[in-house]
Amino acid sequence: MSNVEEKNFRDLKERLLSAGYSSSDIDFITRAWEFAKTAHFGQKRLSGDDYVIHSLEVARILFGWRVDAVSIAAGLLHDTIEDGAATYEDIERDFGSNVAVLVDGVSKVSKIRLRGSSEEVFVENLRKMFVTMAKDIRVVLVKLADRLHNMRTLRHLPSEKQTRIAKETLEIYAPLAERLGIGEVKAELSDLAFIYLFPEEYEKVKSLSEDYYRKAESTISKMKRNLLVELSREGINAKIEGRKKSLYSLWRKLERPDIDWNFEKIYDIVALRVLVDSVKDCYATLGIVHRNYKTVPNLSISDFIAQPKPNGYQSIHTKVFGPDGRIVEVQIRTFEMHELAERGIAAHWKYSEVKEKKGIEDEKLGKMGAVVDDKLAWVRQLASWQDEIKDGKEFMQAVKLDVLNQRIFVFSPRGDVFDLPVGSTPIDFAYAVHTHLGRYVKGAKVGGRIVPLSYQLQNGDIVEIIKNKNPQKPNSDWLDFVRTTSARRQIKKDLGIVREIPK
Ligand code: MN
Repeated sequence: MSNVEEKNFRDLKERLLSAGYSSSDIDFITRAWEFAKTAHFGQKRLSGDDYVIHSLEVARILFGWRVDAVSIAAGLLHDTIEDGAATYEDIERDFGSNVAVLVDGVSKVSKIRLRGSSEEVFVENLRKMFVTMAKDIRVVLVKLADRLHNMRTLRHLPSEKQTRIAKETLEIYAPLAERLGIGEVKAELSDLAFIYLFPEEYEKVKSLSEDYYRKAESTISKMKRNLLVELSREGINAKIEGRKKSLYSLWRKLERPDIDWNFEKIYDIVALRVLVDSVKDCYATLGIVHRNYKTVPNLSISDFIAQPKPNGYQSIHTKVFGPDGRIVEVQIRTFEMHELAERGIAAHWKYSEVKEKKGIEDEKLGKMGAVVDDKLAWVRQLASWQDEIKDGKEFMQAVKLDVLNQRIFVFSPRGDVFDLPVGSTPIDFAYAVHTHLGRYVKGAKVGGRIVPLSYQLQNGDIVEIIKNKNPQKPNSDWLDFVRTTSARRQIKKDLGIVREIPK
């Protein structure tokens, strides 16, 4: 046991203390540290490091997200059953069933293999993962921290393993982080995977973008100075930062046919982010931005404060001409919205902790609870599907298409927002609104115009379903173009292709 990790653990303890974790929390975490050292005694990572360095780094990442003490302890212990000398019973006895369930859940999720094992085993494990997640979402947080550290140290592994792990990261874990609203983790995971999976493209994007990043950053710093002066004149307390687009998402955008590697068409390569105290200040700031910089015609404002995205994201986005004539995206949000956007579901535990300690008013927490509930809804849906969808392939399709793929956001005429996979049609929309609405579909309008039922919905579309007076059997042709599993299953049920399985 070297002194480096002891020093690093002491450092973590000091940080826990200054972040306001109680002394009993810190004792609990210290016991987990001692336990992990014993369980991993003599074990090394491929990097040559003592194994517990990994456990400690995972705990430090979790602390960075300010999760509760149980999650941090579970981070220290996460490999003690799978790779160390401990048993479930040991952990349950010493740390309680909460921690044991988390460690066990992480071990189960760790068995997931995309390559190198049969599809069936993979699907089975993925099902277990969603069931485990539905029980305690903290499993995913520990697993994401584990994956993040493994990706940061991936260079030590043989190249086939690098490819398998990077692919799994890009296909499963980065989208999971996104769905849980943990933006910063999603960006880091996909950028790390990008390096290993598409090394040439990575180098190309990196070298071609350097110049644009530099120019954009100089524009941003000019605007920042100017806006801080203007805002303080109006008595608005603000923090302004530049946000660089991650290389992976930049690459995805460059590859789009409408962009076709034209950097001039990418307006958010660096965005200006203004953080203020209140919603009222957000709108006042929007006014100040528009007074100082000309807005870009046809690139309208997106107000995700009035109309949050289904994953809970709130912010106002606008595009203006910056001082050098360059188009700049400005994102305006409160500090609290920012916290939720960056840390997502992880922020929930921080706030729960704070609430216990400082007695924050329930109303504030209620909102937060609703956001967390939204984020969990799809996990629960998947967990319940696993009883219903017996065919592994179908389940896999459901996971890949509905959950992990890119999403679009469309609106009902009343302004309710629906979150659907890319390629969804008005039929998918109808079934998303209500399983029974599908039975009344006669036609559909998008933005007031009649569209075919196979029309592929676009982000921001307002979709209206034209209804029949009475319910009808769905048209079997719909099965050729519906995108969501829920629509497909309901159509099949209504057509009598599958029997309804009682719950
Ligand atoms: Mn691990």
